[in-house]
Amino acid sequence: MAGTVKAAILRGRKTVETVVEEGRKKAEKVVEGGLNTVDTVVEVGFNTVETVVVEGRKKVESAVSLGRKTVEHVLLHGRDTMQAAVLHGREDVRIEQVPIPKAEAGELIVRVDAALTCGTDLKVFRRGYHARMIVPPALFGHEQAGTVIEVGEGTEGFATGDRVVALNSAPCGQCYFCAHGQENLCDDLLFNNGAYAEFIRIPARIVAMNTLHVPEHVPLEHAALTEPLACAVHGFEDSSPHPGDTVAVIGGGPLGLMILHVAALYGCQVIAVVKHDGQVEAARQLGAAHVVKASSIRQAIRDTRALTEKNRGVDIAIEAVGVPDAWQEAVELVRKGGTVNFFGGCALGTHVTLDTNRIHYSDITLRATFHHTPAICRKALDLIASGRFQAGAFITGHAHLYELNRVFEKLMNRSSEIKTAIVP
Ligand SMILES: [Zn+2]
Ligand SMILES: [Zn+2]
Repeated sequence: MAGTVKAAILRGRKTVETVVEEGRKKAEKVVEGGLNTVDTVVEVGFNTVETVVVEGRKKVESAVSLGRKTVEHVLLHGRDTMQAAVLHGREDVRIEQVPIPKAEAGELIVRVDAALTCGTDLKVFRRGYHARMIVPPALFGHEQAGTVIEVGEGTEGFATGDRVVALNSAPCGQCYFCAHGQENLCDDLLFNNGAYAEFIRIPARIVAMNTLHVPEHVPLEHAALTEPLACAVHGFEDSSPHPGDTVAVIGGGPLGLMILHVAALYGCQVIAVVKHDGQVEAARQLGAAHVVKASSIRQAIRDTRALTEKNRGVDIAIEAVGVPDAWQEAVELVRKGGTVNFFGGCALGTHVTLDTNRIHYSDITLRATFHHTPAICRKALDLIASGRFQAGAFITGHAHLYELNRVFEKLMNRSSEIKTAIVP
């Protein structure tokens, strides 16, 4: 029996050893497997975190870039309306949401940096229309300079980002008057309005003939003076001046002041004939040798002639008011052989009575100047760019587009403002 017991014990021990051994192997496997699992988990976790961070960063960057693009898009292209002044009739200008213009072939869209108020706009505001220039309801304003934001197909000489001054009109280049160098009298003068707005469409003809690049050193609001200055230079040159001439300028409005400044720069002795106190100082600052401010036309004529040798009268008298009385006054100011320029446009249907005897026997030249030509516009911008012309002195105020009505009301009340820059 003993053999049997021993064998049994031996078998039992082996079984136990086997169990222990198997158990240890299993345990090691479990631990090893566990460690692997932990490592894997940790590693996978790291990878996942990195991926999340990288992907996240990419997503954020993409969102920012997309956001920026969206903002830019909205600013320039995304919206299809803009703020603009619309003339509806007499003293009725409203700021409205209107479609942003699109550039057709040959055209430009310009973002308006500054639009300037002008005596003509004031006249239009009062009368509610301008037979030649604007018929309501219509976009309003005609003096501006800005930056090209869209270039129509086939438009030559301009790119987006260019700083430009686009004039308010362009001649046809084909009619009798254009052929004779009198483009200001063109039978088919094309006018463009809409300067009091965020953006303005420049028609192909104006792009081709009367849109000028603004030199980098010239502020755009100064460049916007090109149009009125072109009219002033044209009127002055048409009066056949010589340096040293005595020139009387009737009217202390923006154009009267511009003409007198141009005449002073040319070397003429200027007598400014003004009506309002606020114009006296401006006339002096812009180069008038004398300023006559009289209570009546008769007195103004006497005072002006008294400033010339032997009361002879001035060499040139330029009328820049646009009323018949001032036209007659101008004729009374000049010497024998002198020149009168009826520069200010009067209301339709008005007339003047002139002393035929004096005009004939005193050999007086009567002439009138309207508007500008492409060559004169270039001359005007050159004068602004030269730095000799005091452009800054003509812009006496700034206002937002929303304030346009208030600005015109102020101008109607004869404030001392010369021009206000309207910034959209
Ligand atoms: Zn104007
Ligand atoms: Zn023409």
